[in-house]
Amino acid sequence: MTAFYRYYLIQITQIMKKLLFLLMLLAIVTGAFAQKFAVTKTDEEWKKILTPEQFEVTRKAGTERPFTGELLNNHETGTYYCVCCGQALFSSKTKFESGTGWPSFYASISKQNVGERTDNSLGMERTEVYCTRCGAHLGHVFNDGPQPTGLRYCMNSAALKFLKQ
Ligand code: FE
Repeated sequence: MTAFYRYYLIQITQIMKKLLFLLMLLAIVTGAFAQKFAVTKTDEEWKKILTPEQFEVTRKAGTERPFTGELLNNHETGTYYCVCCGQALFSSKTKFESGTGWPSFYASISKQNVGERTDNSLGMERTEVYCTRCGAHLGHVFNDGPQPTGLRYCMNSAALKFLKQ
């Protein structure tokens, strides 16, 4: 083995070690920031228990066409649950007529159940609302709602399951 070849090998090994270290660092950092949900399923598993529309809305952050949702004009007393995992999300007590074409609420059942994260899609900054148990996309929350909160949770009917009390 020539001296040059040996030097070359050492250099390569050093570079590989540095790369490996960076990769491990990256894995630790992304692992720490990635959200873990109590209920996790693959797309194939979700498709087995959801309709195509429910899957598109909750798992792919889709939006149902306005004025098409089954629960838009629901005025029964009861609770709205996550269609994916069954976690309680909204009470009929906070439902109001927003005129937008989507079921609207001025409050969620709790911040523990209904999470919020920034959504920069479609060239605007909005606050996305999701189920904290399974990560299902539910809709968005805006600051133009009625009192007492001034909030408008604009939900997809397809993301919700209603149970009468
Ligand atoms: Fe859920």
